[in-house]
Amino acid sequence: MSATITGKWLLLCGGIGGAKLALGLDRLLPPGALTVLVNTGDDFTHLGLRISPDLDTVMYTLADVVDPETGWGRRDETWQFMEALDRLGGEVWFRLGDRDLATHVERTRRLAAGETPSAVAADFCARLGVASRLLPMSDAAVATRLRTATGWLDFQDYFVRLRAAPVVSAVDYAGAGQAAPNPALFALLADPELSAIVIAPSNPWLSIAPILALPGLRDALRGAGIPVIAISPLIGGAAVKGPTAKLMTELGLEVNSAGIARFYRGLADVLVIDHADSADAPAVAALDIRPAVTATLMRTLEDRLALARAVCELAACRGRVAS
Ligand code: GDP
Repeated sequence: MSATITGKWLLLCGGIGGAKLALGLDRLLPPGALTVLVNTGDDFTHLGLRISPDLDTVMYTLADVVDPETGWGRRDETWQFMEALDRLGGEVWFRLGDRDLATHVERTRRLAAGETPSAVAADFCARLGVASRLLPMSDAAVATRLRTATGWLDFQDYFVRLRAAPVVSAVDYAGAGQAAPNPALFALLADPELSAIVIAPSNPWLSIAPILALPGLRDALRGAGIPVIAISPLIGGAAVKGPTAKLMTELGLEVNSAGIARFYRGLADVLVIDHADSADAPAVAALDIRPAVTATLMRTLEDRLALARAVCELAACRGRVAS
């Protein structure tokens, strides 16, 4: 393949969908060139443990210990803790494997001892051999909640316990307005070596919106003066996985690339859409976002690398990347 890609890169992402592109970029770029700003709106306290599902999904993926079947949790996992908990009548709707459990127990201990979520994430990543930098979006707690016919639901209640079945009429990011963005982000945005900001094909409303809801974050991203490239999570007008399309319908949005472009309007310069959605390109362009059509389905590592490279080349085309 062509020349080495230089500079630093920032990726905003959620969990499983975001981790796919994070892996492509992590493996494509020189070690340490990628910083991933990860959604923590899904974080919650369960069984007395502080759990950061998106952060752990990205960390396990980049450390190559993720379960390749599910895309979350650890490979070669065992479930003795869950089985024992079940026999005792404990809560087992949120699956915590034995190896995964160590992450949550150790995170909870360190947070109780006064470490920040950022410090815990950095040390875990160093120990697991992750070269990229993973930043929780904020060290303060933010909780995504969904309004349904039965009232407001906590994110994991909706997403895991109820399998995203309830109809959603509104989404809220409790605490986001007071949660300072990760300070390392501002230092990175001021770094002249930063080439582009990439927004993963994560769920805009559940994974990216909590990040954008942090005070000053949107303006800081725009103010960096570098290309902002978002990738659509829809292929052929449908989600690859999860409730993105269902949620869009319930929120009264157009379930196509234009619906995604409208979310990123004023922030993204480019929206990458799949060949299957190429007919949407004029509608995206009409929203002042340049559409870029390529293959966006990431089944294999090669697919992840190819999309990562396509995104980096798009940034280079915007004339800001050292060649
Ligand atoms: P979650 O936090 O685990 O739900 O994961 P994300 O929010 O990061 O990603 C969920 C989104 O990723 C869904 O809307 C999927 O449609 C999208 N997604 C998953 N795999 C792919 C893929 O290979 N290509 C594209 N374009 N989108 C994907």
